[in-house]
Amino acid sequence: MSSPVPDRYFRGGAGRLSLDFVRTLRHRGEGTETEMLPDTAALTAWVAQFGPWPSAPRPAGVGQDAAARGLREAVYELIVVARSPQGIHGFSSRGRETVNSAALSPVPAPHLGPSGSIRWHADDPTSATLALIARDALDLVSSRAIDRVHECANPGCQALFLDSSRPGTRRWCSMNTCGNKAKKENLRGRITQPG
Ligand SMILES: [Zn+2]
Repeated sequence: MSSPVPDRYFRGGAGRLSLDFVRTLRHRGEGTETEMLPDTAALTAWVAQFGPWPSAPRPAGVGQDAAARGLREAVYELIVVARSPQGIHGFSSRGRETVNSAALSPVPAPHLGPSGSIRWHADDPTSATLALIARDALDLVSSRAIDRVHECANPGCQALFLDSSRPGTRRWCSMNTCGNKAKKENLRGRITQPG
C-alpha cells in the first residue's frame, strides 16, 4: 500500500496547468530524477490539488497513473519541440496520438446550484483533469504564449514556466522558492567575498 500524500504537496505556480503537470517529474534526465506520480494515490492527490473539485475527487483507477505519466512525457516533448527552432512539426506521431486522445475525454462541467455557486463535476475526475492538461498544452503550443515559456534559471530546478510579467524578464519558476534561494546565495557570496 502506498503512503498518503500530504495536502498541497505538489509545486504549482508555473502559470499553466500543463506546465505544473510536467514538473511532476523533477530533475528530469539527471541522477536525482524524482517521480512525483509513482502510483494512483499520488495522481489522485495531484488531481485534488490542481483540479476544480469542491471536495476530494474519486480516486484514480488502476492504470490511470501509467496513462498520466505517459501523457506527461508526451506533453513535455510537445512543449520542448514547440520551443525549438524546428517547431511543432518535430513532434512525434506517437506523442501526438497520446495528447490528442487525452484531449478527447470530457472535461469537468460546471453546475450552477440554487445558491448561485458553481460546482464542477466529472464522471471520471482523473481523466477529466488529464483532458484539461492535454487541451491546455495544445492551446499553449499553438499560441504566442509558447514564446514566453522559459526554463527556471536555478540549475537544480530547470522547471518550465510561463513568464506573464510585462517586460518578459522573469528568471525563476517561483520567487518563493528558486528566486529566494538565488537571492540568498547572491547575498552570501557578496558577504564571503574578500574586499
Ligand atoms: Zn525553479
